[in-house]
Amino acid sequence: MIELKGIAAASGISIGPAYKLGKEDLVVSKEAITWADIPVQIQLFEEALIKTRREIIELQKRISTDMGQEEALIFDAHLLVLEDRMLIEEVISRLKKDQLNVAFIFSEVLKKYISVFSQIEDEYLKERTADINDVGKRILRNLLGKEKIGLGDLKDKAIIVAHDLSPSDTVAMHTKKVAAFITDIGGKTSHTAIMAKSLEIPAVVGLEGITAQVNSGDILIVDGLTGIVIINPDEATLRAYQQKLENLKGIAEKFLAVKDLPAITKDGRTVVINANIEFPDEMSSVKLHGSQGIGLYRTEFFYMNRKDSPTEEEHYEAYKYVAEQMKPYSVVIRTLDLGGDKFLSQFKIPHEMQPFLGWRAIRFCLARPDIFKLQLRAILRASVHGNLKLMYPMISGIEELQQANRLLQEAKDELKQMNLEFNHDLKVGVMIEVPSAALTADILAKEADFFSIGTNDLIQYSLAVDRSNEKVAYLYEPTHPAVLRLIKNIIDAAHAANIKVAMCGEMAGEPSLALILLGLGLDEFSMPPQIIPELKYIIRAVDFKVAQKFAQEALQLSTGTEVEKLAQERLAEVLK
Ligand code: PEP
Ligand code: MG
Repeated sequence: MIELKGIAAASGISIGPAYKLGKEDLVVSKEAITWADIPVQIQLFEEALIKTRREIIELQKRISTDMGQEEALIFDAHLLVLEDRMLIEEVISRLKKDQLNVAFIFSEVLKKYISVFSQIEDEYLKERTADINDVGKRILRNLLGKEKIGLGDLKDKAIIVAHDLSPSDTVAMHTKKVAAFITDIGGKTSHTAIMAKSLEIPAVVGLEGITAQVNSGDILIVDGLTGIVIINPDEATLRAYQQKLENLKGIAEKFLAVKDLPAITKDGRTVVINANIEFPDEMSSVKLHGSQGIGLYRTEFFYMNRKDSPTEEEHYEAYKYVAEQMKPYSVVIRTLDLGGDKFLSQFKIPHEMQPFLGWRAIRFCLARPDIFKLQLRAILRASVHGNLKLMYPMISGIEELQQANRLLQEAKDELKQMNLEFNHDLKVGVMIEVPSAALTADILAKEADFFSIGTNDLIQYSLAVDRSNEKVAYLYEPTHPAVLRLIKNIIDAAHAANIKVAMCGEMAGEPSLALILLGLGLDEFSMPPQIIPELKYIIRAVDFKVAQKFAQEALQLSTGTEVEKLAQERLAEVLK
């Protein structure tokens, strides 16, 4: 039995067999062939290409039915790789020249392609490496006559063990055969971790070297709450975790019982508990968990994994759907936040040394009014179908907010000219996720309808800790006194200007921090849907006055560790 600790990324406990992804290392032997064998080898290659094409189309169909067309578009890029004449011709010409078996030739050509593409500076071309790798492995497996090894083929629920996960792997987890996943790299608020939460799959990331320690078939325990992973547990440990799992089920039922009740403290302070979504098809989970609205709709996932950009109509339809589904509750649409760790293949964003500090989010949108206004027009048009609001990401000062609002005004004028309807009173919020915005919140509050604190970024920028880097994850502390002071400053400035403050970073969904945030005066919490019942339960169990006292106590402490300890103790007192 081996016990390891990684970064808890998505809560829940899973016990089951390991399934190692991408590390099966297909062994390709090098075999000489004769001139006469060449037609047969070419035929094998063609059959492998056809079989691979069929598999991808099949997978695409399944994903399209299960998750929607948008997610299925990822596989268009894979199909394009299959049709790459250069790759196919190089294999055939080397086959004739070297007279070696086609599987070996293909694996050599594939290696060359991957190495060339991964060294290219251009982000668009660089991104193709993952597609080439994915498809190349499929072709190779078919050439070797092996069964395709992929998530789509999982027969029983298994725990995925991977170095990292590609977008297509993560999307394919929707098939529900994945019990949990663990990876070598990644941080708590990385893209993969956020996806795991929205798919409700327990996950532990940043387990450096885990892929070297686990074999497919090993029994694993994954505790997504503590970040503990146990390889081949002994009987006693297995029993202890099975018991813990049972207890968790009981606790979940207790929380679910309050999911449709208001989030009101014992002494009558009401807050709003909203959901974060990435895709419109999450609406059923949002409703199931008793959400009072959508506090963050991350629209950049709409642009991801496709070759073209979504049209204004596509944007409009998606926002209209979400608005209608949530009516009368509100839906906050966050405008395009690309850059940082989210790159889109359609827009040729230059490779930057510090992408999180570079041409990201609102900075990109202000420089590309064509792309930005298309989205703004769609949001405005959809606003007549429900209670929509919009917010801008990564605002660092008032001038950026004013510039964005000028473009919003232009978008409104364009719609007026076209006689298209929109809500003239659409509320416009600002995400506070850059320290300069947090420190000038009083200035921003004068021109914003509401704030939403993006702690995932606010923490990384204020503590200078890359949110997706496991090496510095120990420094990523939501409870750091600097973070608490910034949050207090934001809330106080907003309330002085009579506007509401929401929080949509992962910190808002940390049960142990709920009391402090409530006590600091936060008005709205937005989080992955499945945490909502627990948060409601906590809020309903406490007096606002008591939470205010906890918050004051927390503000007096000197370290994140002390705050964390206090938060855990106080939560236990309230829930006992
Ligand atoms: C945040 O930064 O806290 C946030 C909610 O936005 P994202 O995680 O998409 O950067
Ligand atoms: Mg952010």
